[in-house]
Amino acid sequence: MRLSRYFLPVLKETPADAQIVSHRYMLRAGMIKQASAGIYSWLPLGYRVLRRIEQIVHEEQQRAGHIPLLMPTLQSADLWRESGRYDAYGPEMLRIRDRHDRDMLFGPTNEELITDIFRSYVRSYKDLPMTLYHIQWKFRDEVRPRFGVMRGREFLMKDGYNFDLTKEDALHAYNRHLVSYLRTYERMGLQAIPMRADSGPIGGDDTHEFLVLAETGESEVFYDSEITDLKFGDREIDYDSVEQCQAVLEEFTSRYARTDETHDEEVFNRIPEDRRRVARGIEVGQIFYFGTKYSEPMGATVQGPDGKQVPVHMGSHGIGVSRLLGAIIEASHDDKGIIWPEGVTPFHVGIVNLKQGDDEADAACQALYDGFTALGLDPLYDDRDERAGGKFATMDLIGLPWRITVGPRGLKNGVVELTSRRTGESEELPPEEAVRRVA
Ligand code: ATP
Ligand code: MG
Ligand code: MG
Ligand code: MG
Repeated sequence: MRLSRYFLPVLKETPADAQIVSHRYMLRAGMIKQASAGIYSWLPLGYRVLRRIEQIVHEEQQRAGHIPLLMPTLQSADLWRESGRYDAYGPEMLRIRDRHDRDMLFGPTNEELITDIFRSYVRSYKDLPMTLYHIQWKFRDEVRPRFGVMRGREFLMKDGYNFDLTKEDALHAYNRHLVSYLRTYERMGLQAIPMRADSGPIGGDDTHEFLVLAETGESEVFYDSEITDLKFGDREIDYDSVEQCQAVLEEFTSRYARTDETHDEEVFNRIPEDRRRVARGIEVGQIFYFGTKYSEPMGATVQGPDGKQVPVHMGSHGIGVSRLLGAIIEASHDDKGIIWPEGVTPFHVGIVNLKQGDDEADAACQALYDGFTALGLDPLYDDRDERAGGKFATMDLIGLPWRITVGPRGLKNGVVELTSRRTGESEELPPEEAVRRVA
């Protein structure tokens, strides 16, 4: 992409109403624009990152054997009356009436809708196990929408639902989700710690939230510092293996890590004092096992091996896709701007032309641009007729992992300058060498 042909409305001033750094940088970098309280337009740069995050979520869900589909945002109230949640959900649910006076709602979550799909088609235990998921906009009329996309009213969520014959099978699905989430967050350059949590309005027995540690997080968390040493890394896992998934769950949940809702001072105090941590975290996902809570009232049954009809065991599993942008920026920035982890960066590399209009500099930039494109990478080429200082400030703000600076003086010696956004270190290299380094 050439910056002169792109739409990147960068702001010079810090927006006064943004309280936390991720919100400030998302506004300044022209990623989002508030449309109304807690509702945002995704401008091109923000949309690119959102799509990359979505893509990682899709890949990891499908790697775990989960099946994508797409359910609508607007739902009929009737299904929610069947489950008993229409009245129970409270004012966070946005209720709408259509022209025929039918009660509708903008879905805050999809347990009812997916259970209805399941019961309409699936009859036998032979079709199980099955996990269906989608990535779709949700609406929750939050009392205090704030911090930009972190607590929006309209937000993008991946929500997945497992259907299993037995509790044991459903717990395997739970563990499988835990493993796939660990992989998902690590690919985004994040450490998200599974913490024992409270099940809230979705209800259920087993649940973990995934939290990214950050001072600006809204949850208070208590944990054993040893847990932050755990990494999933690039280990191979067989998602069908009950033992392997169970072992990962045990490894990642054996140390104390809880949110304030489930915190137990007495148990916490048994950890050696130098390992006790009280901190704040951002909830970026949650997994639940809730058994037959929806299948029973909604009649989602299958025929078991003995010919009897049994309600399926279910769980639901969410990832806050749009909130993740904020969480990643909270975890990765400096005073100049965002520092995107490679896995989610909107462009792989920025090319800065120090002397636009100079034949040699223009040609060298174009050659770099073509070189990256040929390798399947996305460069952002700042080809505007602007001062170098302004171009550098924009690149630092939008946080691409690499910047290549091209000017007549370097080209005389056959080199360009390659700068790492994270370390700030620069190196002079021949252009082809710089391309190889980035790729
Ligand atoms: P919170 O405790 O922050 O209100 P939640 O527990 O109500 O979140 P879940 O029902 O567990 O949310 O939804 C799954 C995920 O969706 C959450 O882990 C979070 O990452 C994301 N999410 C929930 N509410 C919002 C929101 N208002 N804005 C952005 N993301 C959200
Ligand atoms: Mg909530
Ligand atoms: Mg929560
Ligand atoms: Mg939650």
